[in-house]
Amino acid sequence: MSAPDAFASLPKADLHVHQEATRYLDLVLAERECRDPYDWSAWRRRLAAEVPPGKERLQRIGSVQPVGIEHDEDDELFVARFAALMRDHAAAGACYVEIRCGGEVVTREGFMSMFREAERRVRADFPRLRAEALAIVIGAGQDRERADAFADGCVRAAGEGLAGIDFLYAPYDTEADWAPMYRLAERFAGVGLGITAHAGEVSTANIAAAARMPGLTRIGHGVHAAADPELLGLLVERGVTLECALTCNEFFGVLPDLEEHPLLRLVEAGVAVTLATDNPVQLGTTIEREYAAAAGLGLGARELAGFTRNAIRAAFTSDGRRAAMLAELDG
Ligand SMILES: [Zn+2]
Repeated sequence: MSAPDAFASLPKADLHVHQEATRYLDLVLAERECRDPYDWSAWRRRLAAEVPPGKERLQRIGSVQPVGIEHDEDDELFVARFAALMRDHAAAGACYVEIRCGGEVVTREGFMSMFREAERRVRADFPRLRAEALAIVIGAGQDRERADAFADGCVRAAGEGLAGIDFLYAPYDTEADWAPMYRLAERFAGVGLGITAHAGEVSTANIAAAARMPGLTRIGHGVHAAADPELLGLLVERGVTLECALTCNEFFGVLPDLEEHPLLRLVEAGVAVTLATDNPVQLGTTIEREYAAAAGLGLGARELAGFTRNAIRAAFTSDGRRAAMLAELDG
């Protein structure tokens, strides 16, 4: 088997992909209406020309909704757009994907059964693909009552199969107040929800606070930890897995240069690393391209296979599914 073949057949996993609701609805509708979908490569070119890299460009993520969100009210389209995301991943060689959704989505009546229906459709063609859903908690510190009501919805959804929680907050590039998030995290951990948080994407701020969050086992991005030996030590000591999104980091310019991406330094420091697409439609990436980008940074087949293993170990899924996936990796 030649090296590219070995790479293509490597099972991959993505622990950090946002649902991209209207982006996937556009793809599904475009196919049904026999029209071209929104041109994201032109959007990327425009953004790269007009907005400086870093925080300012990152804030433009999600600034374009190619179709109206009202299409999401149609249950069939809702299932179809989740299936489209899962299918993209399966076609790119993924055996596992975790999809992050907003609160209004995970608390929707029948959400998990529709999510599982999407998974069933894709597994008919790609039997190795498994998927789980995460809820994103945004701004937990701003409105306690609203945060508690949302937490109630997540706890209910956990009973139906919601796998985990992802925290997003402000400020993102300087230290935030984590007390309201810790309070919610204790509750989520108590009902068995996996916990991750966005941190360390644009600066070293919030990495330590995230790593110490009750029940947290993963951090979305966290790549700036590579600049600080103490943070690296903390991540290793607490066994925190990082969800690294190379194309996302490069496009938004949150690091100096992809060739200087600290992925290798994180691995060498003993941090458990996984690869992720983050916003694949907007960014024009796939999980296969993320593995290829890591290979381009000097990671070998053994390390890449290790990333998949790290992801399965850190996955917010049932013990039975984890055991099945690990057995398939070894098989
Ligand atoms: Zn993200």
